[in-house]
Amino acid sequence: MNISPVKINIKDSRYLCINWDDGSESMLQLANLRKSCPCASCVAEKLNKPATYIPLLASAQLTIKDIKMVGNYAIQLVWQDEHDTGIYTFDKLKEGEY
Ligand SMILES: [Zn+2]
Repeated sequence: MNISPVKINIKDSRYLCINWDDGSESMLQLANLRKSCPCASCVAEKLNKPATYIPLLASAQLTIKDIKMVGNYAIQLVWQDEHDTGIYTFDKLKEGEY
């Protein structure tokens, strides 16, 4: 699968809305994106928590400050709290895996 976004915007400050070049659209909740941040430190932190742990996220952790393209396969989300190590691949964004 080779897809890329033609337009990305934030909707209602809660959703990341992506228009793909195949004409489809994805809506992903910012809270879910942040909770499933694929960066090494977030993944490690999650492994250290019990399965019943419910993360409490501050609004700065749920606000996107910037979005950068990573090559032609992913975007990097920069959150308001300066966390910017999460790389989200187009494939997984498209499949709604975050
Ligand atoms: Zn992270």
